Amino acid sequence: MSDDPTISSCALCPRRCGADRSGGVLGWCRAGARTRIFRWGPHFGEEPPISGTRGAGTIFFSRCTLRCLYCQNWRWSQQGEGEEFDVDGLVGIMRSLAEAGCHNWDLVSPTPWLPFIAEARRRYAKVDNLLPFVYNSSGFESPEVLAKYAELADVALTDLRYSTPALALAASGSAEYVEAARASLLWFCARLGPLETDDDGIARRGVICRLLVLPGHPEEAIANLRWMADNIGPELSVSIMSQYTPAWRAVGNGEWGRKVTREEYAMVTDEAERLGFEAGWTQPLDTAGDDDSLLGSEMSAGEGRVG
Ligand code: SF4
Repeated sequence: MSDDPTISSCALCPRRCGADRSGGVLGWCRAGARTRIFRWGPHFGEEPPISGTRGAGTIFFSRCTLRCLYCQNWRWSQQGEGEEFDVDGLVGIMRSLAEAGCHNWDLVSPTPWLPFIAEARRRYAKVDNLLPFVYNSSGFESPEVLAKYAELADVALTDLRYSTPALALAASGSAEYVEAARASLLWFCARLGPLETDDDGIARRGVICRLLVLPGHPEEAIANLRWMADNIGPELSVSIMSQYTPAWRAVGNGEWGRKVTREEYAMVTDEAERLGFEAGWTQPLDTAGDDDSLLGSEMSAGEGRVG
């Protein structure tokens, strides 16, 4: 489409692979020149302030800037399942989610598509009121890119997956992940501040950091909790996730091929309590999802409160 944004020499994620996507070259993430989307709709599997009662308006973008060997979304994140849309098509998806009563637009893995989403936001804002944007990310981001597209993050729902570059490289294909994810979390916190909700408990602004406890590696989440306590403070809302389920290349792959034990999960939640984290959520241990679900289970709102 001639009126779509173009992406040449792509540097939207920390890989900065430089692909001339507008010239027909696919990037490292295999994203091309038109937005690719797997599915969209009201979604009730996010944290309570994001899902609310009417659902998050979730858009699952195809492609991903990481290659997590255990990815539950591998069919569209790695294999590219989905359909291509131009910017007006993306505006139509945003409108359908707003008309369905969703609380927000929940952008799942938006990074390779940011210029297109920003253009869709501009077009939408000319004719209608905007919903809040939830920037739902692995955390593998560049602060300078986040600053350029800051209007797409009213709420940040962002991961901090590893604390050691070696494990990040082995499991997700980037030794730079730890530095990038911590830098982007600091950027989100400085810009958005603590989580703010309206009278109905729906997120309007702020940050939720997700910690996925990994089988055999609870120390990764524990180290990140300690880093967050030292560098941000325990007022940060944290979502400590037990839902790891072997998928894709994790199936039959040593410890990656099993679920998290009760003891591993308790090590992380105990440390969160010890450090004084009081805002956030935990998950029951028996809530593993299907291989095509985002979260697999709803967070427990009351009984699972951290701290
Ligand atoms: S978003 Fe994709 S194409 Fe762009 S720099 Fe990252 S890996 Fe390369």
